[in-house]
Amino acid sequence: GCGICVHKCPFNAITIINLPEELEEGCVHRYGVNAFVLYRLPVVKDGMVVGILGPNGTGKTTAVKILAGQLLPNLCGDNDSWDNVIRAFRGNELQNYFERLKNGEIRPVVKPQYVDLIPKAVKGKVRDLLKRADEIGAFDKVVDELELRNVLDRNIDQLSGGELQRVAIAAALLRNAHFYFFDEPSSYLDIRQRLKVAKIIRHLADSGKAVLTVEHDLAVLDYLSDIIHVVYGKPGAYGIFSQPKGTRNGINEFLRGYLRDENVRFRPYEIRFTKSSERQSQASEILVEYPRLVKDYGGFRLEAEPGTLYMGEVVSIVGPNGIGKTTFVKMLAGVEKPTEGEVDWELKVSYKPQYIKADYEGTVYDLLSKIDASKLLSNFYKTELLNPLGIPDLYDKQVNELSGGELQRVAITAALIRDADLYLLDEPSAYLDVEQRLAVSRAIRHLMEKEGKTALVVEHDVLMIDYISDRIMVFEGEPGKYGKALPPTGMREGMNRFLASVGVTFRRDPDTGRPRANKEGSVKDREQKEMGEYYYVS
Ligand code: ADP
Ligand code: ADP
Ligand code: MG
Repeated sequence: GCGICVHKCPFNAITIINLPEELEEGCVHRYGVNAFVLYRLPVVKDGMVVGILGPNGTGKTTAVKILAGQLLPNLCGDNDSWDNVIRAFRGNELQNYFERLKNGEIRPVVKPQYVDLIPKAVKGKVRDLLKRADEIGAFDKVVDELELRNVLDRNIDQLSGGELQRVAIAAALLRNAHFYFFDEPSSYLDIRQRLKVAKIIRHLADSGKAVLTVEHDLAVLDYLSDIIHVVYGKPGAYGIFSQPKGTRNGINEFLRGYLRDENVRFRPYEIRFTKSSERQSQASEILVEYPRLVKDYGGFRLEAEPGTLYMGEVVSIVGPNGIGKTTFVKMLAGVEKPTEGEVDWELKVSYKPQYIKADYEGTVYDLLSKIDASKLLSNFYKTELLNPLGIPDLYDKQVNELSGGELQRVAITAALIRDADLYLLDEPSAYLDVEQRLAVSRAIRHLMEKEGKTALVVEHDVLMIDYISDRIMVFEGEPGKYGKALPPTGMREGMNRFLASVGVTFRRDPDTGRPRANKEGSVKDREQKEMGEYYYVS
């Protein structure tokens, strides 16, 4: 143990049984009196991808800064040297790592979380940035793998979120380092890009590098990691890294809300995935039959085939970036006028846009209570929506001072408490951590089921899609040029069609029912592709 730790820690938020002594020893860093405390660190191993799974505000970035040598941990006392850190981790797998770090033998490379901030720090053309980063002579290979060829001559500040993400990942891959850290590599990417990036990061580890990654898309984390750590605790107050766990088991324990080795329950409920075929039995009334709709922007054209939406159902919208998903949703919301066809229904529609603005003067409570104050007092809404999303904690904050994730949660809440027949949610998981994604998924399902309302949700997170959807709508075409929206179909048919275009197959985990991507070329992958069953066989 570190022997320097002095303070006792607040554990009232969760039920922890085998504490506190064991944990006191693992006290790694405390930012100050009454400030955030970090317990334990993740392991770092050559040739392995170590995944980190847990809510925001529990010290993931802090741990990475320490492992990258950017932050000398105070060991919850007044430590001022790396020698003490090495001593504190004696007998631990990290001892050798810290020795190498101290001797300058470890060169860390970090792909930061907030890629949208990159244009503020870096100017110039993509080509020049990547050429400068290239220490291994792999410019062409990496540019092609990440499909960046056609943006090489663009300025950094002209890139979309998804393009910025891939440029940042490319810049990290081109460095010659030992330790690579990818902080949320899937943000802004569509499903095909997410799995492609996961594969590329895996290759990096296969070539002997040590890789650490934080990822909130559980299908991606699962595909990417050799082992994982679950981080639990109280966001903003303290965070504890679990023992390393096998990826499958670790994610399952996380979904159950209970860590076995640690004997810790950190969530009162389990997340279970039902086969959506089990849901479809309830025959329901038609909400609306919408006509063929076309939007022609000049450079881009979307054609949506006519379709039917039922009451009480959740329909997910899937497809690559730039294929017209947002355009379609905007037409249904009445925000964009179709070039052909007409949306002339009497339905009340509540719409959460993909890009949300914080241009509201006032507090979160003002904003929400003006939409429907009674919902804020309703026990059903408190239990299903407001408390799980942590909204009451935000009531007194100014809307224009919220962080990206806070704003997203408020925007989702604002959309869901509005009285409407049809709820349109465009990419609700953006900026949310894994715990919040699960909470939003449950809230969407429970509200639609209970109230018999209909939701259309644009989403790239496969576990969320699987959890919330009764049916699915697939968008196809050529991104940026033309898109075609197919009518909503059953999950199996829709996912088969969609995943065939992505070239990835999924199976179900027998314990939790969650979808897991098959490794390319594995027996299951080949069998399922032969049968044309890309989305599990049931
Ligand atoms: P995560 O990466 O899991 O979101 P972080 O490691 O970024 O978590 O932050 C954990 C907590 O530590 C947060 O509550 C954050 O506000 C706090 N924190 C981060 N940096 C500092 C700092 N320099 N001084 C004080 N508190 C900090
Ligand atoms: P998705 O939501 O599937 O990522 P979008 O509907 O946002 O796709 O965009 C589809 C295409 O339409 C993109 O190429 C985008 O640049 C283009 N587009 C979107 N809005 C406009 C607009 N107002 N004017 C011109 N082109 C647009
Ligand atoms: Mg969109």
